[in-house]
Amino acid sequence: MPSSILYVETPLWESPTLSDRIGRRAVLKMEAFQPVGSFKARGMGAACRKAKDEGVEKVVCSSGGNAGLAVAYAGRVLGMGVTIVVPERTGERARGLIRREGAALLVHGEAWDDAHAYAVGLAAETGSAYIHPFDDPAVWRGHSSMIQEVHAAGVEPGLIVVSVGGGGLLAGLLLGMDEVGWGEVPVLAVETRGADSFAQAMAAGDLVTLPGITSIAATLGARTVCREAIDAARRHRVTPLVVSDRQALDACLAFATDHRVLVEPACGASLAAGYDALGPVTAHEPVLFIVCGGAAVTPQMLAEWDRTVR
Ligand SMILES: *Cc1c(COP(=O)(O)O)cnc(C)c1O
Repeated sequence: MPSSILYVETPLWESPTLSDRIGRRAVLKMEAFQPVGSFKARGMGAACRKAKDEGVEKVVCSSGGNAGLAVAYAGRVLGMGVTIVVPERTGERARGLIRREGAALLVHGEAWDDAHAYAVGLAAETGSAYIHPFDDPAVWRGHSSMIQEVHAAGVEPGLIVVSVGGGGLLAGLLLGMDEVGWGEVPVLAVETRGADSFAQAMAAGDLVTLPGITSIAATLGARTVCREAIDAARRHRVTPLVVSDRQALDACLAFATDHRVLVEPACGASLAAGYDALGPVTAHEPVLFIVCGGAAVTPQMLAEWDRTVR
């Protein structure tokens, strides 16, 4: 792959097993195949490119893992200095991947929100641009490119299934859907219990801040979603769904067997909606699953969770 590539066009795969489970055609948008292992390559790459075009030389990002990895990667490709702040919850696997891209790695606070507050201050002190991992129109625009690709491939989904962390992916997806005239297509927005800040906000009709994050899906662990996620969701047909860590994990294990691809529980949450046949049943096919991926997973991690998660 040329070293100047920020993201690639990902394949669309038919899934015979998920199609069997839901009784309708299931199509997978394989974002796990981005150079950094997740769709974050799109949005974070776009935000870094924008900063670079504005003359920025140093960026700071806070991240549970994949956004930081994507910024570290984009920063290396674009020739910018990168500092990533991760919370203590972020594991060794993700930390190692970020360091390997040549970024400076700092650890601060227990959850992402703490790392974020620290990183904002650090950016101001060091004259760097702060790259927000999900609350930034440039990030949403970057993510929206995945919908442009699905549309260009001639696939017209009857339902789209997507995971929600801070809501940047959802906001980008809805933006892309509007652009291609899919504003009426229903969306199933999936989280794990203990990281369900979107479902709670939709139920409350306003932003909700969780007291803490208790799910293994660390990548979904924003205590508060961005306002655009709920504003855009209210303008569209978005149904929140909350699954258990066990369901997300079982979906990761099944997906690895069925499609020979490792994904994080953050992505397994969406896949669980297929494996467990949850969510609205729409007459129109196919159901499009955004396989958001995630680099911070190994066979050993899945095996360990398989022993410990109830
Ligand atoms: C970041 C991420 C999410 C959630 O995306 P948000 O934009 O924070 O909602 C889901 N899955 C994976 C693998 C991620 O890296």
